[in-house]
Amino acid sequence: VFQLSVPLNFLGSVYRELRQSLLDMETLFNLQKVNVSIKEAPNAKPLALTKGGEIKFENVTFGYTADRPILRNLTVTIPAGKKVAIVGPSGCGKSTLLRLLFRYYDVASGRILIDDQDVRQVQIESLRKSIGVVPQDTPLFNDTVEHNIRYGDMSAPHERVIAAARRARIHDIISSWKEGYQTKVGERGLMISGGEKQRLAVSRLLVKDPPLLFFDEATSALDTHTEQALMQNINSILREKARTSVFVAHRLRTIYDADLIIVLKEGRVAEQGTHQELIDHGGLYSELWSAQETLFHNGVSEREVLVDD
Ligand code: ATP
Repeated sequence: VFQLSVPLNFLGSVYRELRQSLLDMETLFNLQKVNVSIKEAPNAKPLALTKGGEIKFENVTFGYTADRPILRNLTVTIPAGKKVAIVGPSGCGKSTLLRLLFRYYDVASGRILIDDQDVRQVQIESLRKSIGVVPQDTPLFNDTVEHNIRYGDMSAPHERVIAAARRARIHDIISSWKEGYQTKVGERGLMISGGEKQRLAVSRLLVKDPPLLFFDEATSALDTHTEQALMQNINSILREKARTSVFVAHRLRTIYDADLIIVLKEGRVAEQGTHQELIDHGGLYSELWSAQETLFHNGVSEREVLVDD
């Protein structure tokens, strides 16, 4: 119930914010439901992670429309239990890889395998349960902070929700709110910053604890210090559990320690290797790295220095 003393323009913003989150949620569900061309194979089996979660794209070609291919004969392996980064210019198809893996769309040709099982041959629910994502913009429910985190696994006890929030570096902030974990996210729509939203999303993922983890620009709204602290926590969880993880990132400083860095350009793998290998190779990655480092050392915010600059 709104109080009359609240200025009307404030109400308008809250309403817009709320509506936006609810709309995002709708979009998410629509993606899952309405894409009627995605059908489960009649003899589909549950996904079995027999090799620890190795992901292979084999000669994958895909476009949202027939006249504009986004991925062209892309072949790449994401090794089980490793931390992998995908970098490349805006629009080169990084998020598309994730949508295909989730089977929001199917490839036009080629195939995608998880531990040797074609994603089109496994039960869709088991596939999506095995993959956790922190998307670029996380839809939040108009509900409590606790519910929004627990959404990762509705059976999680309160302690697990708190442990996840601690590791996502958001527990202290939530505790400082008058109603703590019972704060309604909708009501706070205006006061939850982009960085807080991203940390709630990471908490949700940690509660879900899936075997395959994707971070799509998941820390882009955080300042460098908070981002580093959060990345340290995420890294230690990944190492501890030997989870396959994929980070889509513009800021190379957040991913330079990955086991494998894949550089995409125009729907293909331009180069891949560790940070040192790619620097020694002296190609696209090394150019981007130098450009970002120079600007960083000249005091320009890393956030301003994106891969496609
Ligand atoms: P960014 O770094 O900016 O997030 P990205 O590499 O993740 O970009 P994608 O989101 O995978 O890029 O998009 C690849 C291309 O596909 C872009 O040109 C985009 O405009 C286009 N695209 C994405 N979604 C759709 C869609 N639903 N319908 C048509 N085109 C789309």
